[in-house]
Amino acid sequence: MLDFNLNVNLGGDNAAPAAEQPGEPAPRPEVENVIIVGSGPAGWSAAIYAARADLRPLLITGNELGGQIALTTEVENFPGFDEAIQGPELVERMQRQAERFGTEVLIDTVTEVNFEAAPFTVKTAGGQEFRTRALIAATGASPRRLGVPNEERLTGRGVSYCATCDGFFFRGKDVIVAGGGDSALQEALFLTKFASRVRIIHRRDSLRAGATLQRRALENPKIEFIWNSVVTSVNGEAKVESVTVQDVKTGATADLPTDGVFVYIGHLPNNQLFMDAGTVAMDDQGYLITDKLMRTSVPGIFAAGEIQDHRFKQAATSAGQGVAAAMECEKYLADLADRANPGAD
Ligand code: NAP
Repeated sequence: MLDFNLNVNLGGDNAAPAAEQPGEPAPRPEVENVIIVGSGPAGWSAAIYAARADLRPLLITGNELGGQIALTTEVENFPGFDEAIQGPELVERMQRQAERFGTEVLIDTVTEVNFEAAPFTVKTAGGQEFRTRALIAATGASPRRLGVPNEERLTGRGVSYCATCDGFFFRGKDVIVAGGGDSALQEALFLTKFASRVRIIHRRDSLRAGATLQRRALENPKIEFIWNSVVTSVNGEAKVESVTVQDVKTGATADLPTDGVFVYIGHLPNNQLFMDAGTVAMDDQGYLITDKLMRTSVPGIFAAGEIQDHRFKQAATSAGQGVAAAMECEKYLADLADRANPGAD
């Protein structure tokens, strides 16, 4: 197998790093094998596999260390944790596992990438600049926020963006769901397993969601709809106690007592970097387009997790996509090295 630590000659700019001093981390190579951007389950899983393949990956965390899962309290659906694990602890464990195998972690935010020609360049907010043969984009997506008073303060205290994660805690309680798309209805239906009542607040008088979900939601006796309305404030001291709702036609407002607010008004892929670079194909919603091998439209650029997945959006699926991206990245680099050194082992 090729030793990527030797930084095989791929263009004459791969001077061997200076000898490692005991206790000091090895200096970074002039050209990285792979940079992983993002520190959610996709990024850490890619790092674990890339590190174990001796690629010495550099993972740049971004400013939301751990991504969405780090905002979740108890994670009960990640395989292997039969008694649940706190989201932040799961992320810490993933990081430790990735570092154990030689991942270099840089707590910084990538501000600019250039994918015009390999090696690609990556610049960070901290003023560092790297060159890399390959990159795995794992920047995730963020749920669109309502942008109303107290929403941020009460996140994790009744405001949630993940019914799968948090629905269980609302057994026998009253909850509000904001949104009228497939996600809002699907998650409202999921919440009826626990909650005593689920009120869906939608800004129009017809739903965006598909017919089947609409029918199931409209027929569900636990679900009520509040049409032509938006949430204008979440209220409560230590936890959610009510929401203020405004009728968009009449302007009338009302306070509705409730225990929880689940926000499903769409997701925004964290794609600004790639928008600016302008070289990677995206779909009409701004998600990076990948094939089954997690390859984007630019050879050497892979993507995993919610930056390219708007369907499953689970920590476990993102982790799996990160694994696949790292495995394909290793193969890509081996092919690259083979082409640069024909006949080498
Ligand atoms: P979506 O389809 O974009 O729906 C977002 C909903 O939120 C819309 O009803 C929209 O209202 C509302 N909304 C947006 N901004 C708002 C705001 N500021 N205030 C109040 N309401 C707001 O997003 P999604 O439901 O997350 O679905 C994303 C994609 O995944 C879609 O392609 C969907 O089909 C797919 N998906 C599929 C399934 C499934 O097939 N089972 C499940 C989940 C998701 P308007 O309708 O007025 O625009």
